[in-house]
Amino acid sequence: MKNKIIAVDGYASTGKTTLSKKIAKYLKFVHIDTGSMYRAFTLFAIENGLYKKEIFNKNKLEDLLNNISFSFSNNNDLLFKNSVMSNDIRSTIVSDHVSKIASLKIVRKYMVHYQRDLVLKKNCVVEGRDIGSVVFPNANVKFFMDADVKVRAKRRYDELMKNHKNISYNSVLNNVTNRDKKDANRLIAPLKKVSDSIIIDTTDMSIDQAFYLMLNHLKNI
Ligand code: C5P
Repeated sequence: MKNKIIAVDGYASTGKTTLSKKIAKYLKFVHIDTGSMYRAFTLFAIENGLYKKEIFNKNKLEDLLNNISFSFSNNNDLLFKNSVMSNDIRSTIVSDHVSKIASLKIVRKYMVHYQRDLVLKKNCVVEGRDIGSVVFPNANVKFFMDADVKVRAKRRYDELMKNHKNISYNSVLNNVTNRDKKDANRLIAPLKKVSDSIIIDTTDMSIDQAFYLMLNHLKNI
């Protein structure tokens, strides 16, 4: 039997990760956070010479992309180069660079290949920006997550505060706004609502409300 895929795309901090994880747990599907894949690669690339004296070294990209791997642990946690991803993938430096790196054609080519490889034979909830549009256009169900940008920035700010990060609300708002803009306007695989996606606006919803709404759409999966 063919494996099933639920695609969850949308803007930054709309609740994609929390909800995708919850749905995957409920349905006993595997959760794949493709944002963490772009973040893990970005951190690896920065640490391994992507910027030489602060100048972007584009020629090094393919070499770096060939030296990574993604796989699952026995518990189906996503591994980068055989290790659990560190919290540093959520650091400010990664958040500030990831969308630029994710906009590059060669990076997307490799990442889409790694993502398609990961889902073979598994039922998955895959979250990201281009999952329903490019990576898995035949996904069984596609969600598109949205919410007011100020509400999203506040959520991300609260999350960072909980993890004792020293950052202002305004810089979080700037980062979220800039990433949305870059993600939606890039030439390759821009973030967009596809016509067969179900729009979930979480502005005034609790996680549980959004979760049950999404489950309602998954009755026949
Ligand atoms: O989901 P998260 O906000 O952690 O993703 C970080 C960044 O990775 C996004 O802002 C976007 O630039 C990039 N990304 C992407 N395509 C995906 C997932 C993430 O371009 N499928």
